Amino acid sequence: MLSIKNLQASIEGKEILKGINLEIKPGEVHAIMGPNGSGKSTLASVLAGREEYEVTGGEATFNGEDLLDLDPEERAHKGLFLAFQYPVEIPGVSNINFLKTSINEIRKARGEEEISAGDFLKMVKEKSALVDLPDNLAKRSVNEGFSGGEKKRNEIFQMAMLEPKLAILDETDSGLDIDALRVVANGVNKLKSPENATIVVTHYQRLLDYIVPDFVHVLYKGRIVKSGDKSLALELEEKGYDWIKEGVEAV
Ligand code: ADP
Ligand code: MG
Ligand code: MG
Repeated sequence: MLSIKNLQASIEGKEILKGINLEIKPGEVHAIMGPNGSGKSTLASVLAGREEYEVTGGEATFNGEDLLDLDPEERAHKGLFLAFQYPVEIPGVSNINFLKTSINEIRKARGEEEISAGDFLKMVKEKSALVDLPDNLAKRSVNEGFSGGEKKRNEIFQMAMLEPKLAILDETDSGLDIDALRVVANGVNKLKSPENATIVVTHYQRLLDYIVPDFVHVLYKGRIVKSGDKSLALELEEKGYDWIKEGVEAV
């Protein structure tokens, strides 16, 4: 589904990603971990197509298509979802209307008909229950005045509604409480299917107490320096990142 080969990227002339290799197949959940500043958010942003980041080498294909050639909207149309670290507020546009427009844009890009009012409402009901989204949050303006936890819940609601093929969740290192972590984890767990894949970017081992990833990768100084299964996350929880750093520096 997603194939990344020797991906290199810079911001403001500074090289951040120094050759990332990663293969993601349908049905898989991958966790990307690593110390602060290692390039995790940069990788998520490059995959989402944020234009501050310059790709300087390598390639990334999504279902066989050159991903890096597409603009962010086209990537969303192809089934990519990136939960931004700082979700945008859209005053005056209700959450529900925003999602309906987004869903219809995706459908249009695929040559499908607009979603019917009935199907849409059914979907809202089903997916908001999935993340315990209070009724008023669905109707309020997108993220306006939402608390951190509400934004997080809303982000997972958006993901559930858009039914992406590949979701990339970049979890901030700052102050996600345990409830918010659970919402993310429940969302990812419930949406897991043989057709879809998820990349969870996190600094926290804690999140992986709730999400069981199929693969764990450690990013350090712009490279994936170690990959394993969920036992790697447990090892990191126990030992921290120093042993990884030492291993890399010794080479
Ligand atoms: P992580 O998510 O793993 O904490 P980031 O991808 O956010 O790491 O950052 C990797 C490196 O890129 C850091 O050294 C950071 O200072 C730098 N960086 C990230 N974003 C910017 C930016 N907008 N401008 C300049 N440097 C940046
Ligand atoms: Mg960071
Ligand atoms: Mg980050």
